[in-house]
Amino acid sequence: MPHVITQACCNDASCVFACPVNCIHPTPDEPDFATSEMLYIDPDACVDCGACVRACPVDAIVPHTKVVTEQLPFLDINRSFYPERPQGVKLPPTSKLAPVLPAAELHQRGKYPLTVAIVGSGPAAMYAADELLTQQGVLVNMFEKLPTPYGLVRAGVAPDHQRTKLATRLFDEISWRRGFQFFLNVEVGRHVSHADLLQHHHAVLYASGALHDRRLEIEGMGLAGTGTATEIVGWYNGHPEFTGLPVDLSHERVVIVGNGNVALDVARILTSDPDRLVHTDIADYALAALRDSAVSEVVIVARRGPASSAFTLPELVGLTQTAEVVLDAHDHARVREDLATVQDNLTRQKLEILTKLGDASAPITRPRIRLAYELTPGRVLGQQRCTAVEFTVMGTDQVQRIDAGMVLSSIGYHGTPIADLPFDDNAGVVPNKGGRVIDPQTGQRVPGAYVSGWIKRGTNGFIGSNKSDSLKTIQTLAADYNAGLLTEPIAGPRAVARMVHAQQPDVIDAAGWKIIDKAEIARGAAQDRPRVKFTRVADMLDEVKDHSDLPLLQNMLGALRRS
Ligand code: NAP
Repeated sequence: MPHVITQACCNDASCVFACPVNCIHPTPDEPDFATSEMLYIDPDACVDCGACVRACPVDAIVPHTKVVTEQLPFLDINRSFYPERPQGVKLPPTSKLAPVLPAAELHQRGKYPLTVAIVGSGPAAMYAADELLTQQGVLVNMFEKLPTPYGLVRAGVAPDHQRTKLATRLFDEISWRRGFQFFLNVEVGRHVSHADLLQHHHAVLYASGALHDRRLEIEGMGLAGTGTATEIVGWYNGHPEFTGLPVDLSHERVVIVGNGNVALDVARILTSDPDRLVHTDIADYALAALRDSAVSEVVIVARRGPASSAFTLPELVGLTQTAEVVLDAHDHARVREDLATVQDNLTRQKLEILTKLGDASAPITRPRIRLAYELTPGRVLGQQRCTAVEFTVMGTDQVQRIDAGMVLSSIGYHGTPIADLPFDDNAGVVPNKGGRVIDPQTGQRVPGAYVSGWIKRGTNGFIGSNKSDSLKTIQTLAADYNAGLLTEPIAGPRAVARMVHAQQPDVIDAAGWKIIDKAEIARGAAQDRPRVKFTRVADMLDEVKDHSDLPLLQNMLGALRRS
């Protein structure tokens, strides 16, 4: 088997288009692409050329001769995506390559080149910029609330998943392209309004994601010691809004409600040996808290059975290789029952891994994770602090109590409404058609407004899933531009920098971000870590001011002159 896709797969499909024999699936035009947990190489069709290795932004593809022990399960995972064939029978060679989604074509109109404001700087925003900048002369201004870009890749991906964070290499490269300008440390809705942006651009594309999480509305959530898993993610990743989170790890057990990948990430970090994290970019204060932690068990509780687990197979494989994961005897029995009736291959593989887990009755010798099933959360108990959670056992009136000093809900993210745009609160998205914002009252387009990423489609998919999603939005935007539906900016590109600077003098550009980035990497190098992050906005601003040759506005105008 020549090449293998492993856990870090980001689904951006760069490998699909690099492959000369179309042996990587699902391709973006195939129906299961949107829901696929990763991409898979057909071992019998791969010609071992290595083109996919070079294309992969997160180094997830390895030749089979270089597969390390923890990647071995991915040999089977890749193979089992494809139908079984008799030994030695290869797929017929194909000259049909995966169809590349057509790039948006622009027909220049009006006085100014197409100028687009993108709000947010995570994967959906960066892939949208990438697509726009394939067209000559296009200008992209990206607005981000924090002084640092890249959204959940910086502040959401777990610190022990450094390969996933390699996506930022591509994003850095995009941010240095001609026509691209960062406006970091600028909050849309506070420093500048939607109307300000619309005046200075043909279109405003919101790729602001869904930073906040769905809340578990049960009695007792709100007591000290309760919170959400995503707050803990922000905390250990040094997100400035979460550095002050009161994380008390002086008790034995943490309960996490919901069993998606976020729950797995948080449970893994809370039970990790701190020495495993010491060479990552985890926030220093979080590492110190983990060193002092008394937590010996994190229980991840799902309301449904094992076959309905929300976590993905690659993440389960990764979890069981780094942490001790156990099940109660009755959950082991449920896993076996589900395995006897399971139809689909992916779920079968997850269940097979669950059958091999240890039993929770064994004494706890090191911090461990327990997966628990068919328990619906009822209420959190405690006076000032939480002390336990009560669950109802599925299909019965029976109440089960689990003692815990910390209770986290991890029941998915939820989009945040955007000022001046319609919002569908149930779905947590901005109503849209192919990325074009639609007013649900009138069914008409909201002029100049577009969306991409989680705020467009809801909180599903992986970093790279945003690539084809953003491409579709840009195709819609380009079609509207070509049809003359977008209004010309009131002034040329330099007016944007002046307008923003007047309203937020502490705006940071790409050069400013480079200063922060370099300083963080230098701080990390001394400790053999990828970076030591600044976790306070004031420190980031000081770093930029101390090292800038020119005042920020002059820097920006200079960059615009060069582009
Ligand atoms: P998620 O995958 O949607 O999982 C949500 C979990 O919450 C499910 O177990 C769900 O159970 C449960 N839940 C929902 N409402 C509930 C309620 N009222 N009471 C009890 N349980 C409830 O959410 P997520 O973990 O936040 O992940 C969000 C997205 O980010 C996913 O696409 C995920 O794959 C992605 N992500 C990926 C990675 C990675 O690849 N490493 C890491 C982090 C996040 P039901 O199934 O019963 O509804």
